[in-house]
Amino acid sequence: MDIYLATGNAHKAEEFGRLFAREGLRVRVRSARELGGMPFVDESSGTFVGNCRLKAEALLRIVPPKSWVLADDSGLCCDALQGGPGVDSAVYAGTGATDAQNRAKLLAAMKEAPPHRRGARFECHLLLLGPNWTDVKFVGQCWGKILEAEVGTEGFGYDSLFVPANHDRTFGQLSAAEKDAVSHRAKAFAQLTGWLRENHYGD
Ligand code: IMP
Repeated sequence: MDIYLATGNAHKAEEFGRLFAREGLRVRVRSARELGGMPFVDESSGTFVGNCRLKAEALLRIVPPKSWVLADDSGLCCDALQGGPGVDSAVYAGTGATDAQNRAKLLAAMKEAPPHRRGARFECHLLLLGPNWTDVKFVGQCWGKILEAEVGTEGFGYDSLFVPANHDRTFGQLSAAEKDAVSHRAKAFAQLTGWLRENHYGD
């Protein structure tokens, strides 16, 4: 089966490609770039799953017949910020903000938060849409805490500020394989591959 990823984010496409490859499923991961790029979507639904649906439906309109579409929406939810930046994680410091600007804004917003208020979780929501109106949702969470300064240069987004539970290094210090063992995206992905196997897709 062919699954088109509804993302223009090269980091995410690379993570998904890597995760699918190690599962040994007969799934061809296709990029929206092959179709001229991910159509513009105003991610304004206010929820992770709502944004997934907007992206998946936009891409489903342009994929070849019988193709599947996988959309994800993810973000960082901080206790001290009542779950923020949440769905606004990518644009926390404004439309077009860089990851560095978003991290700087988060550090400033969390400046006064004491250690016991620095809890946070990454969430990843996946929505798989397919022919015959197949519509399945998966969610992965990774709990941890936000540091008071950046550590590490690997990864993207808020990686250098986030230490996952039971670890003493940030996502920005972990190797790709170490991150895949605990990440929100990998957990949501494990549910997706479980569903694909149960339903004999990719046999
Ligand atoms: P999305 O592209 O709308 O899903 O926005 C996700 C945003 O959340 C990204 O731009 C990052 O800022 C943040 N994010 C999601 N997953 C991760 C991760 O694994 N590491 C670091 N930041 C992440």
